[in-house]
Amino acid sequence: MDGDTTNQLRRLPKVQSLVDALTASAHPQHPPAATLGAARHVIDAARAHLQHHPGTTAPTVEALLPKLAARLEAAARPVLRRVVNATGIVIHTNLGRAPLAPAAIEAIIAAAGPCNLELDLLTGKRGSRTQGVEPLLVQLTGAPAAVAVNNCAAAMLLALSALASGGEVIVSRGELVEIGGGFRIPDIIQQGGARLVEVGTTNRTRLADYERAITPETRILLKVHQSNFAIVGFTEEAGIAELSQLARTRGLLLVHDLGSGAVTDMTALGRRPEETVQQSVAAGSDLVVFSGDKLLGGPQSGLLVGTPTAVDPLRRFPLMRALRLDKLVLAALEATLRLHRDGGHDQIPVLHAIAQSPAELQSRANHLIDALTSRVGAAITSTPTQGYSGGGSTPNQPIPSIAVALAVPHPETLAATLRAGYPAVVARVADGRLLLDMLAIADTDLPVLIEAVRVACPPVPSQA
Ligand SMILES: *Cc1c(COP(=O)(O)O)cnc(C)c1O
Repeated sequence: MDGDTTNQLRRLPKVQSLVDALTASAHPQHPPAATLGAARHVIDAARAHLQHHPGTTAPTVEALLPKLAARLEAAARPVLRRVVNATGIVIHTNLGRAPLAPAAIEAIIAAAGPCNLELDLLTGKRGSRTQGVEPLLVQLTGAPAAVAVNNCAAAMLLALSALASGGEVIVSRGELVEIGGGFRIPDIIQQGGARLVEVGTTNRTRLADYERAITPETRILLKVHQSNFAIVGFTEEAGIAELSQLARTRGLLLVHDLGSGAVTDMTALGRRPEETVQQSVAAGSDLVVFSGDKLLGGPQSGLLVGTPTAVDPLRRFPLMRALRLDKLVLAALEATLRLHRDGGHDQIPVLHAIAQSPAELQSRANHLIDALTSRVGAAITSTPTQGYSGGGSTPNQPIPSIAVALAVPHPETLAATLRAGYPAVVARVADGRLLLDMLAIADTDLPVLIEAVRVACPPVPSQA
């Protein structure tokens, strides 16, 4: 290190003098321990900068003070915060999947204090915590029995542990999938204490393949929905109806991991068909397992519907206690299921977004363009895009969407600035432009989105 750098390092302000400067300033004050820690961090960063940039001068206390104030302000904000989803992916796993319906949000608030979670208010006796959601799941899906746990992965673990532990589970090689985040079907079978028996090939599996693999140890025939991929071309698979018949005659259970869990006819929303929970139940599945926060549009949960023979052992299984749902989730889930039952699909944000017409998307884009044009230093246009429902539902099936495109010199920098805001805006960059996709944006997001873009964009060049 040269002598000048050493000299500059010596001139760096002391941590305490930076703390004192903040205390004496008009900046908001924070707890002493937080202020001290942040001041240390700011000085350390300044030291590192000097060491890596020989020839620069040590900053003064005055120069470091705004950095300290900004750091403290950022640290005082909650880490988990609202995001405007401008990605064009409706069920975005990294953005909390399904945004909840207003009725579900109200239900969460109502249940936040004391509530009748495990109390039957008619008798004053102990009740079941799933008293609200189970009858609704039964009504909606046509299955005679239902239970609900923390997520679909937990539901699969519970089902395999309670129904197949010590025995064999037969799965097609075309369905030995990884859903994401390390959730792999072979691993979850092993975790459940069962042995995986693979049958068929990647592209073709027939009923006879299952039939041949059945032994006295077999407990379950497992069918897994191809959530996040598609096998196309020369393919064949055994359907639920024929597998159900085979399971019945051999005294086995047919379990269907349906994942995305549509209970709505997607063609009625103008989209391509997606197998529904009702169809799987009607075709003879003993147990259908699906997520609450994908196409159902509710809170994170794993739902299991089926025959009492398949469902009752799950209720009694000790693991159930570890996987049970929290009251806030149960409140939101009940409200979401009520909307499905009562035909309130339009109030479920996921279904509303998926069903949007090009005209609705274009009108939202126009609103945004009107609000931003000549107020920010960027050329603004609308452009067609391909959106997706996401969350491992309807793979390979883009939804025609529209984005507002901002042409700025540094779109990646603008994207980062938008992500750092409160609320954050998550957009994407394509062809050197920042794209705000309208598909997953709600009308109620528009005011905050407009404000966020105005603040983050380069200013309009002044007309000299
Ligand atoms: C998404 C998915 C899961 C996992 O569901 P989580 O609710 O995220 O645990 C399991 N199986 C299939 C087929 C899925 O699509």
